[in-house]
Amino acid sequence: MPAIASTAQSPSTDMAVRHDWKRSEIDALFALPFNDLIFQAAALHRAHFDPNAVQVSTLLSIKTGACPEDCKYCSQSGHYNTELEKEKLLEVSRVVEEAKAARQNGASRFCMGAAWRSPRDKDMPYVLDMIRQVKDLGMETCMTLGMLNEGQAGALAEAGLDYYNHNLDTSPEYYGQVITTRTYNDRLSTLANVRDAGMKVCCGGIVGMGEERNDRVGLLQQLANLPHHPESVPINMLVKIEGTPLADVDDLDPFEFVRTVAVARILMPQSYVRLSAGRQEMNDEAQALCFMAGANSIFYGERLLTTDNPEANHDQRLFKRLGIHPLDPRHEASDEAHEEAIQAQVSEQQAEEAGLFYNALDSKRAAKHVLDKDTGRPTATEH
Ligand code: SF4
Repeated sequence: MPAIASTAQSPSTDMAVRHDWKRSEIDALFALPFNDLIFQAAALHRAHFDPNAVQVSTLLSIKTGACPEDCKYCSQSGHYNTELEKEKLLEVSRVVEEAKAARQNGASRFCMGAAWRSPRDKDMPYVLDMIRQVKDLGMETCMTLGMLNEGQAGALAEAGLDYYNHNLDTSPEYYGQVITTRTYNDRLSTLANVRDAGMKVCCGGIVGMGEERNDRVGLLQQLANLPHHPESVPINMLVKIEGTPLADVDDLDPFEFVRTVAVARILMPQSYVRLSAGRQEMNDEAQALCFMAGANSIFYGERLLTTDNPEANHDQRLFKRLGIHPLDPRHEASDEAHEEAIQAQVSEQQAEEAGLFYNALDSKRAAKHVLDKDTGRPTATEH
């Protein structure tokens, strides 16, 4: 049989990392035929990363709700009635327990988020202690605490914080439709303070908030034209929360979400592009497309991970089905145990599917209960 010649041109993978992207260029990437865009993004992904390795982080809310900011998507804003249960700053020992559980389940980075405008002086000693103790577990640390001045950024860096998350959320033009209590420039100043203190930056945005494609272009342009690309770029799909002003916004086409991931990969080829909020609402096929498009980092559940956490188990099975492994160079010894846990989960599911319908239904009901309780109102938000 004659070989079938490919008509696609090989995409260039030797592009220098750029910080001068024009909107028209980014717009042209978004407008590519879907297959060509994914091909280009996947080629760059392969040039810079192992395409089958995904970095896994866990996010814990260390202080929940009653936030003075008015981010229109957020369950934690004190401006909206979302019936979210508020929690004071967690005790350091509790945070360390949760970090240990996350590490046990394959997470290499532990992210801690507090719903603050910015940290208060009296909170800083606790926060610094959390960083030191989680670092002692051998994990990378990340925090999101709102705006930081130079002194606060310096103190966090000195305690050993690896990453600071502070998102730009959307384009400068659409920003005012989403948040009014802090400005785009406030966000850029915090990012500069984080960089100057020597920490790595985790910064991305949210799509599906009713913005136009031009705003997605504008967001990615801002990120890609920062003096240094963020090491982590979370791309969030809006999770619609009842009680917030964005509860009824129209759904974004999932292919447009995949396009956004692919364009982020092309513009910032050396960054980890992370599937963040909204991933749990996506089906497995959409997530697989995102991995093909260059996503190589995920959040692995937003609460304490235990072996009977159905979300975590689902993720483990998806990794197995796709031949993806968690990127965790420092925990190779635990990979074997992790692999065994995945295999046990897969066998258990196969046994259920083999005919134990009554039990299978029961277990699905139980899983639904946990999912409703745990994911109905996300309690941890990247700012
Ligand atoms: S996103 Fe962050 S800053 Fe905005 S309301 Fe929610 S917790 Fe507060």
